[in-house]
Amino acid sequence: MKRRSASPAPDPPSNWLIKAKQIWKLYVALLAFTVTFLCFVVAGFRFMTEGKLLGSVVGSGMILGVGTFLWLLQALRCPFCRTPLAWTMIRKQSHMSWLVDLVNLTECPVCNANLMKTAARDQRIVGNSS
Ligand SMILES: [Zn+2]
Repeated sequence: MKRRSASPAPDPPSNWLIKAKQIWKLYVALLAFTVTFLCFVVAGFRFMTEGKLLGSVVGSGMILGVGTFLWLLQALRCPFCRTPLAWTMIRKQSHMSWLVDLVNLTECPVCNANLMKTAARDQRIVGNSS
């Protein structure tokens, strides 16, 4: 039996960060926050076992965590009006849900552009080239 070689249609991106090719920024921030967490775990473990506070590890973790957060606030931008959407969502949404609301945005809260349309346009361009 011969298998058909039809290429399966790719799943449509599930959120605007994927469509706007900005999801890598979220992954970089997640990695940096994980390293920050590990800095505190290592320093805490050392403090409990040897009674020494690893000030340089704690300081590095704090700088990395705060720096990553500040970078993330301005890095995730509307592809149309370039508004920093993370900062906009933090100011307008509950501190418990701003990240989920940010990822699930379909329209820019500032210019009302359809954030999912960006991807549709990009996919047509990709589709034409293949
Ligand atoms: Zn916008």
